[in-house]
Amino acid sequence: MEVSGGIRHLLFSYVLINGILITLEAKEEVLLDMRAAGRELGWLTWPPNVEREGSQKSQVGWEVHQRTLNGSQFYTYQVCNVEEREQDNWLRTTFIQRHPSASRVFVELKFIVRDCNSFGEGTLTCKETFNLFTSESDADVGTTFRKGQFRKVATIAPDEITKRNEMHLNTETRYVENLSRKGFYLAFQDIGACVAIFSVRVFYKTCPATVKSLAVFPETVARGGEKQVLREVSGTCVENAESEEQPRIYCTLDGEWVVPVGQCQCKPGFEEAEDSCRECQPGFFKADASSSKCEPCPDNTQRLNPGASFCPCMAGFYRAHTDPITGPCSGLPSAPKDLEATSNHLPAGKLLLSWNPPEYTGGRDDITYSVLCQRCESFECKPCGEKIRYDPASMGLTVTRVSVSELDAHFNYTFTVEAHSGVSVLVNEAAPRTARLSSTTLTTSLQHTDPPRIASMRLVERDSTSLSLSWDVSPRQLVQSPSVHYELAYRKKDNKLDVTTYVVLKLERSSVKISDLAPGTAYLVKVQAFSSDGSSGGSSVEEQFETLSDEHLNKTGVILTSAVGGAIMLLLVIVILVLCRRRSNSHARQGPEDAYFSNPEQLKPLKTYVDPHTYEDPNIAVLKFATEIHPSHITKQKVIGAGEFGEVYRGILKGPGRKEVAVAIKTLKPGYTEKQRQDFLSEASIMGQFTHQNIIRLEGVVTKFKHAMIVTEYMENGALDRYLRDHDGEFTSYQLLGMLRGIAAGMKYLSEMSYVHRDLAARNILVNTTLECKVSDFGLSRVLEDEPEGTYTTSGGKIPIRWTAPEAIAYRKFTSASDVWSFGIVMWEVMAFGERPYWDMSNHEVMKAINEAFRLPAPMDCPSAVYQLMLQCWLQDRSKRPRFGDIVSLLDKLLRSPDSLKTIADFDPRVSIRLPSTSGSDGSPFRSVSEWLESIKMNQYVENFTLAGVISMDQVLQMKTEDIRKIGVRLPGHLKRIAYSILGLKDQTSTLSVFAV
Ligand code: AMP
Repeated sequence: MEVSGGIRHLLFSYVLINGILITLEAKEEVLLDMRAAGRELGWLTWPPNVEREGSQKSQVGWEVHQRTLNGSQFYTYQVCNVEEREQDNWLRTTFIQRHPSASRVFVELKFIVRDCNSFGEGTLTCKETFNLFTSESDADVGTTFRKGQFRKVATIAPDEITKRNEMHLNTETRYVENLSRKGFYLAFQDIGACVAIFSVRVFYKTCPATVKSLAVFPETVARGGEKQVLREVSGTCVENAESEEQPRIYCTLDGEWVVPVGQCQCKPGFEEAEDSCRECQPGFFKADASSSKCEPCPDNTQRLNPGASFCPCMAGFYRAHTDPITGPCSGLPSAPKDLEATSNHLPAGKLLLSWNPPEYTGGRDDITYSVLCQRCESFECKPCGEKIRYDPASMGLTVTRVSVSELDAHFNYTFTVEAHSGVSVLVNEAAPRTARLSSTTLTTSLQHTDPPRIASMRLVERDSTSLSLSWDVSPRQLVQSPSVHYELAYRKKDNKLDVTTYVVLKLERSSVKISDLAPGTAYLVKVQAFSSDGSSGGSSVEEQFETLSDEHLNKTGVILTSAVGGAIMLLLVIVILVLCRRRSNSHARQGPEDAYFSNPEQLKPLKTYVDPHTYEDPNIAVLKFATEIHPSHITKQKVIGAGEFGEVYRGILKGPGRKEVAVAIKTLKPGYTEKQRQDFLSEASIMGQFTHQNIIRLEGVVTKFKHAMIVTEYMENGALDRYLRDHDGEFTSYQLLGMLRGIAAGMKYLSEMSYVHRDLAARNILVNTTLECKVSDFGLSRVLEDEPEGTYTTSGGKIPIRWTAPEAIAYRKFTSASDVWSFGIVMWEVMAFGERPYWDMSNHEVMKAINEAFRLPAPMDCPSAVYQLMLQCWLQDRSKRPRFGDIVSLLDKLLRSPDSLKTIADFDPRVSIRLPSTSGSDGSPFRSVSEWLESIKMNQYVENFTLAGVISMDQVLQMKTEDIRKIGVRLPGHLKRIAYSILGLKDQTSTLSVFAV
C-alpha cells in the first residue's frame, strides 16, 4: 500500500508540464459519513471491554460518547489509556461498499489528540498519534475481526495538540488506493494516545460532466492506480461542431479536468455561443470550421438564410475560380467603348483598332480584351483565319489598342472587341447566352459599301415569246463583285385578277433572257440587287416591256417555220428550267445539299422527297401521291380549326369495304383562285409521300369535285402548343421527353428524305390520345405568305422569326440544320408547357438578341441534359448543330436512364416564366388577387384564394408553398408557378426583361 503525501503536489506538477490547468470543482461521492449519520454507528471495538486480570480497574479501549454541541447531539469515539503500557485498541468501521470505478477513496478525519504533557509525571507511555488501517473484502464479515487482515494506511498525527484548557480540532485527509474488491473496512488503532474522533468521512472523487472546448465529457470517477495519476477521457463534439481528432481530456485523481486535446470547432455556418454552436444570423456567414465569428455577407451576394457557410452571388454576379468564396461577387464588365478603326497613314492591308475601357468593370481589375475578326464574302461571314497578324496580340490584351495587318483589299472585315474579366469564363461555361453580356459587338469595316441599287434597265433583244434585258448597278465597283446577286420579278401587265403574283428569277448576272412569254403581251419587270450581306438598295422602278406579236413574227419570213418544232421543244425546256428556278425561291425546292445526314448510311436515303412543283401540272402530282376519295365516303361532323385555306373538320371516312375511321378534313374555301387550289393540294402531294409513325398520315384527297378536300388521320388532342397550355404542369419531364422523341423521329425521317420543313413549331405538331406527336403542316405557300407567325422579309416571303435559324432569316438558307434550330425551340415550348418562345418580345428584339448570342433560358424544372441539347440546336454555326439522328439517339439514351433527368438546369423564375414583379403590365402594382392570378395565367384559382380569405396582395405575399397547396392548388406545375410568382413579387429587383443584364 502506497501513501501519497498530497494531491496538490501532483496537480501542480501537471501545470508545469503542460502549462494548462483547468480547475473545475471536483465532485465528492460520499460512502460513509459518521457525523451526518447522527446516531451510534455500531462500530466494532477490539479488544472487547473486559476487566483484565490483576489490574485495579478495567482496561477500556475505544468508547462511544454522546455529546451536545449547539443543541444538537453527535457521537464521538474516544480512547485515553495514557498511563497503561502496551496499548493496542482497535476501532473498526462497518463494511463500506465501494463504487466499481473508485479504486481510490479519501478518508477525512476530524479529531483531537490530548497533549501528553498535560497528564503530568508517570505517563511515560503516553502517545500523541494513532494509526489508520484498512482491509478489503468482498462481503461483510460481521463481527469477525482479525488484526492480521488489516494493512496500515497512515499514522495520524495532529497538527495541533489539545492542551489542558483548550481544544484543537484537527482535520486530516488520507487516501486509500488500489482498491479492487467489493468493499472494505477502515480501522483506527490506538497505541496509548488520548484521542477523540469527531468525524470520519469516506468518499471518492469524480470529474463532473462538463463541456470544454465545445466537447462534451461525461462524469468520470477520478481513478488512481499503479502509476496512472491521470485518467484519459474521450469526449464528443457538441451539436454542429466538429474536430479533426477525437476530443480528449484528463481527469485528475483529485477530480479535476486538465489538458484538453483535440479542439472542437463550430462547423461552417455556425458560431460559438455559450458552449454550443448556433447558426449564423441571416445576412452573415462562416465558411470554415473555426473558432471565428460569423461575418456579414460580402458585396453583391445574397443574404438569405440563417446558417450560411457562404453567401451565394446575386443574379448577374460571379466569383472567379481564384476568388475566395468569402470574398465579394463581381459583375461582368460592360462593353468596351468607342471602338474605332483607322488606316490613315498606314501601309495597305493594315489598320489600327482602338477603344476605351468598359464603363463598368464589375468591380474587378483583371479586365482583358480579345479581338475577333470575320471576313464576309458572298452572304457568308467566316473567321479571318490565321493569316491576319495582331500586334501585340488578339487575345488577353491589357491595352486598349491593337494593330491588325495582312488584311486583303476589297473585302469586308468585321472586328469584335470583347471585354473579359476573371468571371467572364464562368459565365461562358454556365450559360453561353449571357457570355456576351460582358462584351459588346462593335463592328468596323475596312471597306464601306452602299447597298447595291439598280441604276438602269434596258431591253437588249426580244421576240414573240422572250425578252432579253440587262441593267446597271451602283455603286459601280459592285458590278464586278461576284457576291452581288439579283432577283428579277415580272408579271403580265393586264392581269387584273392577280396583280400580286410575280414570277421571280434569282440571277447571278446583270442580264437575263426571259422565255416562255405570251406573244404581243406587255410585261412589267422589276429587278433588285443584293450584296453579300443581304443588303439591298431596293427594287428598281417597274418597267414595261412587250413581246413581239405572232403577226410580226410571221412577217419576219417563213424560214423560221421549219424551226418551230425545235423552238417548241426548246421552249418546253426553258419553261421547266424557269419553273425550277422559280421554285428555288419557294419552300419546295430542296437540293440534296440542303439536307444533311449524321452517318454514311443515311447518305443513301431509300426514297427522296419529290417536289410537286417539278410537275408541270400540280394536279398530276397530287394524283400520283394521294388517293382520290369520293365525297360521299366522307362525313363532316364538326369544325375543329381554321386552316389556311378554309375550315378544318372532324369527320368520318368510310370507304367501300373498309371500316369507319375518324379523320380530319381540310377544306378549301369558296372563291379560291386556281393558284390557291394548287397550293392547297400541294400539301397533300407532299404529305402523301411520307409514311412514318410521327408524320401525319394522308388518307386521301377530293380533287375531282368542286369542293376540294384533304383527308388525314384524326389527332384527338389537336395542336401540341395548345394542348400543353391546357395541361400546364400535368406531365413529367419523362413524358414530355417522350413527346419530343416522337417529333425528333419524324424529323429524322423527313431529313433523310431530303425534305426541309421550314415551319417546325409546336403549333404544327398534332397529338393523339396516346400522346403520340406527329409532324404536320406541309403547306408550300404558308412560309411565304400566310404563316400567322411570319414576318415579311426583304424578298417578299414571310418567316416565323422566333422558330427560324439565323441563317435562314438572314439569307434564306433553309436546311435540315435550320429545322434542327426550330426543333430546339419546339423542345423549349414543350418543356415550358406551351409558353411562347421569347414571350412578348418583338420579332425585331428576338432577332437582335439572337444576333448578340443570347439564347432562351432553361424552362422551369427542365432537366439539365435537355437544356444542353436545346443550346446545341441553337449553335450559330449550323454545321455544329446535332443532326436529327443524333437527337433521336440522345433522347433515347435519356429515356432509357430516367435518372439522367434528375439534374435540373438552373432556373431563374424572374426570367424564365417572365412573371411581373411588383406590378401589372401597365407598371402599377397589382390591384387585386384576381388581376395578379390573371397575369400569371392562373385565374382558375381565383375562387380558391377568395374562399380561403386571401383577398389582398399583402396576404398573398405572406403565403408559403404549403399555404398555396392547402387552398387547393395541387398540380406541381401550378404550385410552382404561383410560388415563384410570389417570390418574384417579393423581389423588388425582379426584372421584366428576359435579357436584362
Ligand atoms: P392547319 O391547317 O394544319 O394549321 O390546321 C388548323 C387546325 O386544325 C390545327 O391547329 C388543329 O387544331 C386542327 N387540325 C388540323 N389537322 C388536324 C388533325 N389531323 N387532327 C386534329 N386536328 C387537326
